[in-house]
Formats: sequence, C-alpha cells, structure tokens
Amino acid sequence: MEYISTRGHAEPLDFENVTLAGLASDGGLFVPRSWPKFSAAEIADMAGLSYAEVAVRVMTPFVGDSLTETELRELCRQAYGRFAHAAVTPLKQLDHQHWLMELFHGPTLAFKDIALQLLGLMFEKFLSRRETHLTVVGATSGDTGSAAIDALAGRAKVDIFMLHPDGRISDVQRRQMTTVLSPNVHNIAIDGSFDDAQAMVKRMFSDPDFSGKFNVSAVNSINWARLMAQIVYYFVTALQLGAPKRKTAFSVPTGNFGDVFAGYVAAQMGLPIEKLIVATNVNDILHRALSAGDYSASNVTATPAPSMDIQVSSNFERLLFDLEGRDGAKTRARMQRFESDRAMALDGDMLAQVHGLFTSARVNNDDMRDAMRWAHEESGEIIDPHTAIGLQAARMSGIDATTPIVTLATAHPAKFPDAAERATGNRPPLPKRVGDLFERKEDYARLPSDYDAVTAYISERAAPRYG
Ligand SMILES: *Cc1c(COP(=O)(O)O)cnc(C)c1O
Repeated sequence: MEYISTRGHAEPLDFENVTLAGLASDGGLFVPRSWPKFSAAEIADMAGLSYAEVAVRVMTPFVGDSLTETELRELCRQAYGRFAHAAVTPLKQLDHQHWLMELFHGPTLAFKDIALQLLGLMFEKFLSRRETHLTVVGATSGDTGSAAIDALAGRAKVDIFMLHPDGRISDVQRRQMTTVLSPNVHNIAIDGSFDDAQAMVKRMFSDPDFSGKFNVSAVNSINWARLMAQIVYYFVTALQLGAPKRKTAFSVPTGNFGDVFAGYVAAQMGLPIEKLIVATNVNDILHRALSAGDYSASNVTATPAPSMDIQVSSNFERLLFDLEGRDGAKTRARMQRFESDRAMALDGDMLAQVHGLFTSARVNNDDMRDAMRWAHEESGEIIDPHTAIGLQAARMSGIDATTPIVTLATAHPAKFPDAAERATGNRPPLPKRVGDLFERKEDYARLPSDYDAVTAYISERAAPRYG
C-alpha cells in the first residue's frame, strides 16, 4: 500500500516510512492511495475471531509489505496481551438500544493505549532494520503523554522526551508518567502552561539547528499507524452486534477527529455503519462544521472533559481531502486559507456528502452530568466525562430504536474521580493494576519555560542522528 499526502506535494511512501515520519514533508497528512474494501463474506468470516486476529485481518491491507503476516500477528498479540480484559474492548449493554464499548482496559486507562501500544512495538521493529535512532518529543496536558511513555518505555533505539506544565496536571496524570523509570524515558516539567510547552515542541520540529541533529518524531494522532489501529475495534464491535447483516451506529467523543475518522475508514472498507455521531463538548468547532459548514476556531474553554478541549482538529484535514475529491492542490489551498483566516466554510455539496454518514451534537456540562447520572441509574455503570458526552449525543440522536448505538467509552472513570462522584455520589477506585501508583518512586526534571534550556537538556541526552 502506498501513502500520499493530503496536500499533494510529498513523495508517496510505504507504511514503514509513513509510520516513522508522522507528518508529510509538505505539511499534509498521509492517507492510503485508496481505501481497501472487504466483501460482506470477508467481514462475516471475521465473526468469532479474537481481537488480535481481527486486527491482523483489518490492518494487513494497510501494512502491505512492511511486515509479514506472522510479524504483524506477533506485534498484535504482544500489544493486546497487555490489556486487563481478555476481550480487549468489551461491550456493555446499558438499555435496549445503548451500548458502551470499553476502550480503557490498557495500561494507562485511556483509549489511546490501543493504538500507542502497537505503535511502540512497530517503531522498535522498523528501527531494528536500520541504522537510525529515533527521538520522540512531545508536550502533554495529561493523557497522551502517559500512554506514549508506557508504550515506548524500554523500547530499543528510541528515546522519548515528554514536556508537561509543572503543577497543572493531576497527581495521577503526573505519576503515570514520572514513575516510569526506564533510561529512555525523560520527563520534563516546564515552569509554564501547556501552550508554552506545545509551542516549544513545535519550534524544535522547525528548528534546523535542533531537528538537523536528531531524528525527531512525534506520536500525536496525526500518525497514520495510530488511526489504523483504531479501525479494528469498529469491526470487532459491529461483528458482535450482527454485522455484516445488521447496521450499527457509533457515538464518538471527539477532540482531534482521530477516533471518529477511524470509524469513517471502517465504513469506507465496507463495514455497515448506520451513523457516526460526532460528539463535542462546548468546544464545538466540529459540530458547527458538520451541521452548518462553519469551521471557524475560537478560544478554548476548559471543561471536565479536557481531552476534548480542542479548537483545531488536526485529523479533520483527512476528511476534507476526501470531500475535495482527493485533490491535494484544493486541500492545500483550503488549509492555507484556514491557517491565515482561522475560518473556512464547507459548501452544500460537501455537507450533503457528510450527512450520508455523520451527524453531530454539542453537549454542555449539565447534559454531560445528566448522562453520567442516567447511566448509573439505568444500569449501575459509572462513566467518565468524555464517555458521558458521547452517550448524551447518542441519546439525543433520534436514531431508530431497532439500530444499536455504541458509545465509545474513551477513559476509565477513575481517571476523573471528582466528576464521577459529583454526578453519581460514587467515587470510582483506581483499578488494582495501577493501585500502587502513589507508592512508586518518581523521576523528572524541572526546567524554566525557556527554549534554549530545554533544547540543551534534550541535546545532552538524545542519541545523535546516524544513518
Ligand atoms: C484523546 C481523547 C479523546 C479525543 O479523541 P480524538 O481522537 O482526539 O478525537 C476523547 N476522550 C479521551 C478520554 C481522550 O483521551
């Protein structure tokens, strides 16, 4: 399989090189040259397979020659063997129509583990074949950092430097990162905000003095391999609910449009999906874009669902590319307009295409709490704020009661115990596997919010570019 850039100028690459590169050299995002398709018979044939086996079937066309089937199977077994539930992404029924797909049984209790555990193993595998050392640099406001660190800890030929704003993330979030003591993990607390940390990381990528010295890479959700790994659970769940004979709807708590884009890809591959519900909190740029064509960024409002407090959704460009008829020049012009104006409009044609598959909803904090309360009263489930936004959007969707609606449960409620307790009166305990988090030793550097100080610190510790 060959990958092309949404902005039409970068050299096409194979899966291995796309995985290591992350972003395309023309500033676009990589997408497969065409969407692979399964017949109904091929989908029916996956029923009853284990999670890892469905993963192999779904990912094989994307991986192409970069891994043999045996290698891919080995990586999937290793990645998904680390999950605390044998089904990896178990389904729970809430009432006649509503279901939860639990995506939080990985090591750091958020759905990002599902893709990052596999990505960490793929990095190691691909790097073992070349004379290259990778330096992953990132900034985190909480969840992505811990999932990336857990996935990369101890992996050969890769170092990870993760910046977080000192004192501005929760103790659980900090400890999930700083108690990982592998020599290739470097946590840096910055005396500044998340935006300060993020700005420094962006500057490192475009600074030839820094990025020329190291093979820098990112693990944010623009990496195609992450999206690919997320397609799998749409298949696994739809099969359990009767695919390919019966359609399923999915409601997806959305931030960077990565998770829901994976659902879109599943539909392009032939999975019968009734609707994808794009659920946002009050940071509702995607809801405005998909309902009224208004894609315009304003300021971010902090909410109890911080992983969705996003204004500009990086993966939305991948959908725009398809809506533009896969025309790289048009997509590039559109994105350049957006980057200068902070706004763009989707025309009537594009919206008509969108509404064939997508619907959307904006959920405020009160409605989010209602959904947490409803899930608890209806079925005893305690859900986290992100999941609650998805569930509320599902309940408001008006989809016929004969179609099952699956809400993606993206975080374990114990990651957000205060919100759960406020809504339900119950404080969810941390699962046993992370229970001794507060006894473990921490290790991290504290640095001023100063570009030269941070790059000097990294330069002393990262392996130079070679090969
Ligand atoms: C990252 C995250 C999301 C948003 O996912 P996107 O792929 O960015 O749309 C939702 N919920 C939780 C808990 C997350 O960590």
